[in-house]
Amino acid sequence: MLPREFSQALPVLLELEANGYDAYFVGGSVRDHLLGRPINDVDIATSALPEEVKSIFRDTVDIGIDHGTILVLTGSGRFEVTTFRTEAGYQDFRRPDSVDFVRSLEEDLKRRDFTINSMAMDARGRILDPFEGRGDLREKRIRTVGLPDERFSEDALRMMRGIRFVAQLGFDMEDDTREAITRHAPLMSHIAVERKTMEFEKILASMNKHLAFNLLVRTGLYRELPMLEGYGDVIEAMGENPAVRSLSKDQAWLYLLFHVMDGGFLKAWRLPKKEIKAREKEKESLKERLCGDWSPQLLYKTGRNGVVNVESVASCISTSPHSIREALNRYDELPIHSVKDIEATGAELIKWKGNPGGPWVKEEIAKIEEAILNGELSNEKASIRKWVTTCNRS
Ligand code: ATP
Ligand code: MG
Repeated sequence: MLPREFSQALPVLLELEANGYDAYFVGGSVRDHLLGRPINDVDIATSALPEEVKSIFRDTVDIGIDHGTILVLTGSGRFEVTTFRTEAGYQDFRRPDSVDFVRSLEEDLKRRDFTINSMAMDARGRILDPFEGRGDLREKRIRTVGLPDERFSEDALRMMRGIRFVAQLGFDMEDDTREAITRHAPLMSHIAVERKTMEFEKILASMNKHLAFNLLVRTGLYRELPMLEGYGDVIEAMGENPAVRSLSKDQAWLYLLFHVMDGGFLKAWRLPKKEIKAREKEKESLKERLCGDWSPQLLYKTGRNGVVNVESVASCISTSPHSIREALNRYDELPIHSVKDIEATGAELIKWKGNPGGPWVKEEIAKIEEAILNGELSNEKASIRKWVTTCNRS
């Protein structure tokens, strides 16, 4: 029995076959299926030319017709169908000058990056594996299809993809493949930041990120990553510190942001503005947290998610970490968690004081917020009213 992801796409394979073409599942889905890992997207490769694919299926979208990719929409899902192709040229170290459609599966598998990504599976579940990807899966080894020097000069991003697969799968990198990265790392300068970020985020989110950090240092590839050139020691420490392994992607970014002294670090990686803002705020909280304990004010302004992120990173770098649970309990016990929780509104303050509205309302609310957090004032309407209408307060 094939996993559901494949059986849903099976009618597409069978339809292509019924029309006289070859069709296979290829790439990451076959790899993950053989590893018993969750399957991402199921890619289909076929000997049918794009126009032929379009003539067979009623509902299609041209999503990358120049590269031979057609999206086929069926009742059970949408599937990318790509014509077998070879690539040639690669004068810019990142993409082929031309692609040629071919009728042979093996030619198509040959252009793929690593042996474990170069297997195909037919509609009956039979595996085609001309580059011994299964052997490398067994040996837990990342190895290029063909000569690594050639493959990395064609497309430099493959070096980072290789390190990413090491991190995601907990594999080793074969010696020749690793040594070729050491030689070709500078070619990464041809790769757009966004593509580096996509791979790096997958590394940061992975279970075995320490293996990737070790490799980034060992091969020198970290020098080609935005603003990390001078931070080999930080990356090395991330590889050696067992606590770093359990950090989430956001927490790992926070760890890096904390250690990188130059401003604009996350901007250099083109992270979304919202994420940059959240991490910058957490960095400020982390600095305060490392100088002492959580105060109610610090917990409040950091927010629940921020507290988890800050405390997780603090556990990696502080000699006296608290437990995340304890910090969260203290957060949950705060009398208020946002200004909206205050049992009095601006309109009520205006009414109670008998003054017209103005900037004083916001200032007064900030004072109330502070007093409630400090435990000087209880968060009840009557107490707040009394507190704002009497003068004897600090
Ligand atoms: P993921 O689980 O992250 O989707 P994946 O292996 O499916 O991993 P994709 O980026 O979706 O990776 O690519 C699909 C397939 O296309 C790969 O398995 C590989 O065969 C091939 N491929 C992708 N990028 C490259 C590349 N830069 N060079 C050569 N082949 C590549
Ligand atoms: Mg994929």
